[in-house]
Order: sequence, then C-alpha cells, then structure tokens
Amino acid sequence: MNPKYETVIGLEIHAELSTKTKAFCACEYSFGGEVNTQWCPGCVGMPGTLPTLNKMVVEYALRLGLATDCKVNQRSGHDRKQYFYPDLAKGYQVTQADAPICEGGKVEFYHKGEKRSVRLTRIHIEEDTAKLLHGDAFAGTLLDFNRSGVPLLEIVSEPDLRSAEETKDYLEAVRMLLGTLDICNCQMQEGTIRCDVNVSVRPIGQTAYGTRVEMKNVNTFSGAMQAVTYEANRQIELIEAGIAFPQETRRWDEHSGVSISMRTKENAADYRYFPEADLFSLSVSDAWIADVKQSLPELPVAKYERYRGMGVSEGESWLLVESPEKEAYFEACMQIGGVSPKNAANWIFGLLTARWKETGVSPQESSVTPVRLCEMLRLIESGTISNDAGKTVLDALFASDETAAEIVARLSLAQVSDVGELKALVTGILEANEDSVTAYKNGKSNAFGFLVGQCMKASQGKANPQILNQLLRELLD
Ligand code: ADP
Ligand code: MG
Ligand code: ZN
Repeated sequence: MNPKYETVIGLEIHAELSTKTKAFCACEYSFGGEVNTQWCPGCVGMPGTLPTLNKMVVEYALRLGLATDCKVNQRSGHDRKQYFYPDLAKGYQVTQADAPICEGGKVEFYHKGEKRSVRLTRIHIEEDTAKLLHGDAFAGTLLDFNRSGVPLLEIVSEPDLRSAEETKDYLEAVRMLLGTLDICNCQMQEGTIRCDVNVSVRPIGQTAYGTRVEMKNVNTFSGAMQAVTYEANRQIELIEAGIAFPQETRRWDEHSGVSISMRTKENAADYRYFPEADLFSLSVSDAWIADVKQSLPELPVAKYERYRGMGVSEGESWLLVESPEKEAYFEACMQIGGVSPKNAANWIFGLLTARWKETGVSPQESSVTPVRLCEMLRLIESGTISNDAGKTVLDALFASDETAAEIVARLSLAQVSDVGELKALVTGILEANEDSVTAYKNGKSNAFGFLVGQCMKASQGKANPQILNQLLRELLD
C-alpha cells in the first residue's frame, strides 16, 4: 500500500433475516432445503399474485435500527427496483427506495483496541432473489427458487472506514450485533451475510473523496479485506500512472483474488424505481417502537465494556461476548460471588474450556459447576493453595464429587504461609547453597531464581511464593 494514499470504504451489507416465513408470502424457508421445494406462485413472481408483508420482518428491522440509534421512519413504503437478471423472474425486486424504514444511526466497534464508530446511511427492507446454480455435474445454469423472497436488511454505511482491517472489524461487529439481536443466522458459508464493498482512494490530506468503485459478490469477511486491498492498490497504480478510471461496478472474484469490470456504474434512475402499489404503506406506531426498544438485549459493545470494567482481559471479554454458554457459566460464578472476575474468566477460558472440549461436555452440563469452581477459586484467592495446586484440585473436582476443601485436605495441598516455618526452611537452603549466595551477592541474578526453586522443592511446592520471595530477599540482603 502506497503510504501517500488513504483508502476510503463504505459497505452495503445484506443480511438474510431468520424469520420463519418469507418477506411477502407464507412460505417457510430454511437453508439447505431440497431445490425448488420452498416456493409459492407469489414469491417466484407469477402474475396475479399479491404480496402481504410479514410483520416479523418489520420487527427485526426495528430491532437492528433501534440497536444502532437510527431514526425510525414511522411511515415508509415499498418500491420496485426493476432490472433484468435470470435470478429475478418477476423483473423487479421489492425494496425501499425513498423512504427506508431506518435512517442515520451508527455502529460502534473496536479496532486495534480502540473504539470506533461508523455512521449508517440507512437500513431498509428488501427481498432476496433466486439462486443460480452452476456446476460441473450439469451443463448450463439451473435456478433454485427457494431463496426468492427471503427477507433481507440492507445496511448501508457512510464511507467512514479507512483500511481493510477496519472493514473486517466493522463486519465482525455487525455480525455480532445481528446474532445478539437474534435476527440473522450469520452463517457466512450459507451466504446469510453478503456485502458490496465500495472503495476509493485519495492522497492523504485531500478532503474530497476519490472515484468510487463498487465490488459486488463479496461473501466472506476475508474476501472483503482482500477486495479492499486489491482495489485500493489497483486505483493507486492507475492514479500514479496518470490514467483516469470510471466510477464502475466490478465483480470480486474470490478464487482468483481480482476484481473484474461488470459495468460502468448505473444511476438510481436506471432502475426506474416506482412505488409498489400492491403493498400498503408501512406505518410503525410509537408503541411498537417503545416495545422493541424495551426488549433489546444488552449489545455486544456494551457487554464487552462491562466485562472490561470488571477487570476481565480484552481477549476474554470478547470471548464472553461471543460464547453465550460460557458467558452464562461466568455470570453464574459472578452471582455466587467472592471471586475475582478476571481470575474466573481465566480459569473458564483456560483449563475448563480445554476440559469441556476434550470431553464434549457443555459448560451447563459440567460436573464442575460454578459453585464448585468458585469454592476452588476462593482457596486460591485467599492464599490457601497456590495457583498450581489449583490445577490439581480442578482435576480432582472433575474426577469426584468432593468439594475443593476436601480435596485440598486429602492431598494436603494447602500452602505454607507461616512466616516462622518458611524462614527456617529458607535459612536451611541458604546454608546448603553458599555458592549461589555468593553468586547472588556478585550480581548474578539467576542465582536468586535457583534459590527460589530449591526452597519450593524443599517445601514440596507448597511454600507461598510471595512470602517465600520476600523472605529470601530479606535474608540475602
Ligand atoms: P448504490 O446503490 O449506487 O451502490 P448507495 O448510495 O446505495 O449507492 O451506496 C453507496 C455506498 O458507497 C455507501 O456505502 C457509501 O458509503 C459508499 N461510498 C460512497 N462514496 C464513496 C467513496 N468515494 N468511496 C468509498 N465508498 C463510497
Ligand atoms: Mg450498491
Ligand atoms: Zn412463497
């Protein structure tokens, strides 16, 4: 990437909604159904049929719009976007042109540990097309109409992103948001989130945007990153060579990793949008908005910040946000209380996760329940046992139904924190290792570590390390 240029990116994300039925008919849809089994005359666009708007589609749009601080247009409508393509038998897509259901708003996310915000232009409701099937098993192209009329939300962002990595973090944030709001399955391999990536470049310091190129057909987040990088470099090379290029639509080819020109950019006028007269205008009441607002769950960024505020590490806070089962387990530990959140998260995402994975047991089925884990953690936090001994206790907790305290007693794992007892031990070690003592006094710092090791060994690993270290320094100095 040429450092004299800045990349500017805006995304149009299409998220397939996980409503039970399609946008304008009663067909049920689920990914992977047998080809051409989930359709009716309405959703494939046969003449003489009439659409009926699925209320849940509006509900889902409101969820996302309110979660992103959008302004809800309480009166919006539907429009026909006309174009010719074999996956659109009807000849037009029902979408929202002039009055989208939501406008403005923002998506907050973290990029390299810093909070960012991307402004949203709009969120609108539209329908998906049929799927074209190409394959080696047959000649030509086949059509699967199952996806026809599946509801989509198009989430259009302002050109606020500045790099491929930031684009990926934004996409991840949108994915998490859709998941938390429970409105999209977010299965990339099923194509439930797809995006058009708009890219332009400009010399650093220039305020006007450069010519934008839109890349269609981006199905993965890594694809979006590659598309941004590829396209920015292509544009910079052209600019540097003094070659002007048009505003155009290109297709992103994931396999070859290049963008290919499809058409110079059409204008909105070319689609001949006009109002969908077969649907009533859409009106959303104050009460409905209030209802949805009140039912919103805690959002990923807020949750992340709450965990950070509790002292949980950055990485583990995100893991909690992303893994509901472990989050529930963690929250149960917090309810029980008396343990540090940071420590609990550490153990949950460390040894416990390894164990759950090994045995195929979910956190909720775990024989080491939050109560039993917390008992063990309290023994560590009070200094009764060392962190290392905690690992032994955890193994034993999985193997039996004893309590942590019983295990500590049975295996005599309690730490020695008695200063008198430890002082005697340290003195003995120092007398037996005069060479190391001399080395330490001559500035050999690793001699100290050696002496700590000897003391630990003599105590069979039970010496309280803080007290031991302190005593050793005192006696040596
Ligand atoms: P269209 O339907 O023609 O693609 P939209 O207005 O729906 O137009 O989408 C425009 C998208 O392009 C938005 O995501 C916006 O942020 C982005 N965009 C606009 N101008 C630029 C630019 N100069 N560089 C990069 N992205 C841009
Ligand atoms: Mg577009
Ligand atoms: Zn149908």
